[in-house]
Amino acid sequence: MVKLAEWQGKNVFRKYGVALPRGEVAHSPDEAEALVRTGKVPLPCVVKAQVLAGGRGKGGAVRFANSPEEARAQATAILGLEFKGEKVREVLLEEKLAIGREVYLSLTLDRTQRLPLLIASAKGGVEIESVADSEIDRQTVDPFPGLTSYEKRRVAKVFGLSGGPARSLDRLLDSLWQVFQREDAELVEINPLAVVGDGLVALDAKVIIEDDASFRHPEYAEVRDDRTELEEIAREKEIAFVQLDGNIGVIANGAGLTMATLDVLKELGGAPGVFLDLGGTDDPTKVTEAFLLMSRARPASVFLNIFGGVTRCDTVAKGLVEAMRQVPPSERFPLIARIRGNNEKEGIEILRSAGVTSVSDLRASAQAAVDAARGHP
Ligand code: ADP
Ligand code: MG
Repeated sequence: MVKLAEWQGKNVFRKYGVALPRGEVAHSPDEAEALVRTGKVPLPCVVKAQVLAGGRGKGGAVRFANSPEEARAQATAILGLEFKGEKVREVLLEEKLAIGREVYLSLTLDRTQRLPLLIASAKGGVEIESVADSEIDRQTVDPFPGLTSYEKRRVAKVFGLSGGPARSLDRLLDSLWQVFQREDAELVEINPLAVVGDGLVALDAKVIIEDDASFRHPEYAEVRDDRTELEEIAREKEIAFVQLDGNIGVIANGAGLTMATLDVLKELGGAPGVFLDLGGTDDPTKVTEAFLLMSRARPASVFLNIFGGVTRCDTVAKGLVEAMRQVPPSERFPLIARIRGNNEKEGIEILRSAGVTSVSDLRASAQAAVDAARGHP
């Protein structure tokens, strides 16, 4: 999934004629101050963290400034942030608009109906999560004719717009539809869309490009996504590795078993913190590498749940034992294993000789992993 940061999304919007506040990206407080001092960004301005997570407004990652010094100070504060696990590497500075009203508008795919879905609400802005479902209008769109005037009028009605602003909306919807189609987006969202005089200005931009269409869009190949540092290393090594918020490490094989393992841990009151899907790996070196990467995430306990179908249990056990030897004693964690299937006996024996007991019952072993992690950060 290619998720564009706000400034990248806005660059796409600009190409299609969507009205935007004047703005520029800065990578340092110096740069931020200079943008304001040289008038490239007019005052008063907004300083916005360029992270992929939402909720920046509520989380202190969107701030206002009235002078070049203030712009520098706000950029300094925001560039130092880690917002929802993402390091802020750049900020977008843009003119602060006097907003009449904030509405919500998006185009996405309704996978059940297999049609584009146009979503509109008169109540846009940072509280969108708590807007009642009855106040959100949804209409599916026939992809061949594209947006019709009937559909556009319905959005105007939802927003309560007529005259000049309604004509602006008409043009905006055409642009939005073009972005959605031509860029192969699976989501194009403007929240908030601000009503400013007769015009409509996109204050935020969220664009996600459909992965399966990426071959048509080499221009997005370099877009950074929301991987953590460890996830980035894992990707280079072709290891399926995902970091979550909890403290229990999970090593399993196959997406199905991995997801089921996470569910069981959750059900038992545990919090999975990182998971590793060994897939059909049959190479002890790779297992060792994956395990060492997991240990860098400093889990409170690790639950190994392997079903030996393609993978052989003894191969995984060998790699694991080798990895455990390489983890310094101060960084070790309790390891709870459950291995079943191909060469199960040999695998259990290898683990046992390294001091790890394999419990064959899923609940019992998951419970042991949850208990071992309890009380740890
Ligand atoms: P997020 O969706 O991550 O909270 P937004 O870009 O939507 O971030 O900004 C949050 C809020 O900040 C908006 O709802 C709007 O009220 C305000 N805001 C953002 N950009 C501007 C701007 N250029 N001018 C005035 N207000 C802005
Ligand atoms: Mg927003």
